[in-house]
Amino acid sequence: MSDEKVYEMLWDCKYCGTTKLLGKTHRFCPNCGAAQDPDTRYFPSDAEKVAVQDHQYVGADKICSACNALNSALAQFCGQCGSPMDKAAIARRLADQSRAENETFESSGSRDLAKERFDAEMQRIGVQPTPGAKTGLPNLVKIGLIALLAVIVVGVLAALFWKRETALAVAGHTWERVIEIERFKPRYESAWCDGMPFDAYGVSREVRQRSSRQVPDGQDCQVVRSDRGDGTFVERTECTTRYRDEPIYDDYCYYTVNRWDYERAVRAQGSSLADVPVWPQTDIRQTGTCIGCEREGRRSETYKVILKGDDNKTYTCAVPFERWQTMPIESTWKLDVGVITGQPDCRSLEPSG
Ligand SMILES: [Zn+2]
Ligand SMILES: [Zn+2]
Repeated sequence: MSDEKVYEMLWDCKYCGTTKLLGKTHRFCPNCGAAQDPDTRYFPSDAEKVAVQDHQYVGADKICSACNALNSALAQFCGQCGSPMDKAAIARRLADQSRAENETFESSGSRDLAKERFDAEMQRIGVQPTPGAKTGLPNLVKIGLIALLAVIVVGVLAALFWKRETALAVAGHTWERVIEIERFKPRYESAWCDGMPFDAYGVSREVRQRSSRQVPDGQDCQVVRSDRGDGTFVERTECTTRYRDEPIYDDYCYYTVNRWDYERAVRAQGSSLADVPVWPQTDIRQTGTCIGCEREGRRSETYKVILKGDDNKTYTCAVPFERWQTMPIESTWKLDVGVITGQPDCRSLEPSG
C-alpha cells in the first residue's frame, strides 16, 4: 500500500539501563554491547518515532534455539554460534494499535517481562484466579436451578400428555349449520398508489416516505501500527466509508373499492338425533352485483355428542356427521381423558367392546 510508512520499534537495555534503543539499527546495545531481547520491544510515541528508509522486509526475526541470539528471518545458521536455524523461534509481535486521525500515539512503554512471567506462573498454579472465573452462580445453585427446570418441564409434559381411557355412554346430541351472508359494499382502503386496485375510486393522495437508501457520507479513518517482528513497525491509514440513510418518497393513496364482505350469518340448530339437520333459510334480499346486493358465503356445520362417564362427568366432542349419525343415545364409547387437565381427546373416541 502506498500510504504505509516504516519506523523503528524501541527497546531498553536491561543490563545497563539505556532506553529507547532502535529495534532495527541497534541489534546490540551501543553502550554495553548486550544483545537485543526482541521480547522487550515497544512502540514509540509519535514524537519519538524514527523512520526507516528503503528497508527490505523479509519476515519476523528468528531466535536461535541454542544461544538465544537474534537473527534475521533469512539466516540459515545462527550468526553467533553457527547452529542451524530451522528450529528457531520467531520473535513475538505486539498487538496492533490504532488511533483516530486527529490523535497521537503514546509510547506503549517497555514491557515488564519479569512481572508478566510471574503473573503467568501464578495463574498457572492457581494462586490468582483467572479473571472472570468468580462471576456467575456457584455450581450448587446452578445444579439446583437445572433440576427445578427439569421438574417443571416433566410436569408440563405430564399435564399435556398423561391420559386415561374412560368408558362413556352417549347422553345427548347437538347440531348447528351456519351460512355466512356477504354483501357487496364500499370498502375504504389505502395502499401505495402503484399497488392500487384498477377499480378504485374516490382517490386521494399524499407523499410519504416509502423506504430509504444508503448514500456514502464521508469516511472514518484510523491510523494503525503493526509490529513486524524485525525491529520495525509499519503505520498505515485504514478508512471505511460512512453511510447515511436518505429517504425515498412515493405517492400513497386512500381510495374506495366495492367488494363482497361478510355481513351476517344465519344458523339452524337442533338438539337430538331425531331432529334431522337442515340448512337455514338465507332470506337474501337482492341478488346480482349492486351496492347492497347479497350472496351466500361460507357454509359450516358442527355435530357434537354429549358423553357421560360412570363418575357422572360429561364430555362434549365434535365429530364428523357420518359418525354422529351412528351414535344413538345409551350407546357405549371409550375416550382418552387428560388425567390432570380433564380435557377429552376427541380424536381417540372409539366404540367400546
Ligand atoms: Zn546496555
Ligand atoms: Zn546461536
